[in-house]
Amino acid sequence: MIHPHHSALDVVIAIDIGGTTVKGAAIDAAGTVISRQTASTFDAGRDAYASVVAVARRLVDEAAAHGFAAAGIGIASPGLVDPESGTVMFAANLGWDAFPLRRLLEAELQIAVSVGHDARTAAVAERAAQGAGASGTDTGSSYDTAYDNALIVPIGTGVSSAVVAGGVLIAGATGAAGELGHMQVIPNGALCSCGQRGCIEAYASGTTILDRYREHGGTIASSTQAIASTLDTDPIAARVWADAVNALSIGLAGLAAVLDPAVIVIGGGVSAAGDTLIGPLREAVAARLGWRSTPRIEQSALGAQGGLIGAAIIGWTDQVLDAGFARQTYLSLSSEPQGAADA
Ligand SMILES: [Zn+2]
Repeated sequence: MIHPHHSALDVVIAIDIGGTTVKGAAIDAAGTVISRQTASTFDAGRDAYASVVAVARRLVDEAAAHGFAAAGIGIASPGLVDPESGTVMFAANLGWDAFPLRRLLEAELQIAVSVGHDARTAAVAERAAQGAGASGTDTGSSYDTAYDNALIVPIGTGVSSAVVAGGVLIAGATGAAGELGHMQVIPNGALCSCGQRGCIEAYASGTTILDRYREHGGTIASSTQAIASTLDTDPIAARVWADAVNALSIGLAGLAAVLDPAVIVIGGGVSAAGDTLIGPLREAVAARLGWRSTPRIEQSALGAQGGLIGAAIIGWTDQVLDAGFARQTYLSLSSEPQGAADA
């Protein structure tokens, strides 16, 4: 492991690996975005690792051109991640099996690398945005303790979740906790990319909502966001949206029954639908939890940027950042023109 030495001109390179795009940013310790880069995960036959290296190299070079040095790299990866070794044990969407991401990237760039699970890094960012430091310590009186018992649910190309119980982010026995997307909720339902039928992800990811809309003959909307905005006038959009809400509500009500969270935070690109998603989801979850109070269900304040902000936080290996970092990074990211769709 490479140990960085920080200075005022350090930046962290944050990278969020998605099934569709690799998003990256160089961010200083105050949360200011120095540079932003995005690449298709599989661009012109390139594999996912080559895309990660390309984005990281461009960010390191751009930071250097502005007089900054990269002190560390933080990566949010989908799949089963061992944060100790930085190995991605399995990520179907990326074609990775026991892939030593940290070892390879440190050898390639000579910069310290931290790798985290995408949903759990998003949870780190959500908690930081609520006032808890990256280490989990309470750094401000404004911290909402609801986030000590919370479900963070990023919905993008996939559907995932992070479980925070008693202030602890739960990884599980094999690092596979929180794979909400592959909970089977519809008997003999739609075929999922994992090979099972009826998974939540087969109905409720940004990708599958659009796929199902087209399969059912929908032609008006050309994106998941467009589907969300035509529910009143397009019955096919309304149907696939209702199916997504139904599948999600079964999974979330089940998790709520077991874990008793104070808050469920819906993030990722699909959360940009706002009340069009959150409103019906609240009703559907409440209908399945008639015997108890329903946890708060909220739209993430960080949206599709949660994974990237969390990657920045874990990339600063000393983790001394305060709550201002997450908020400032988000403001800094969202004030720039957006590139490729972040769904
Ligand atoms: Zn599945």
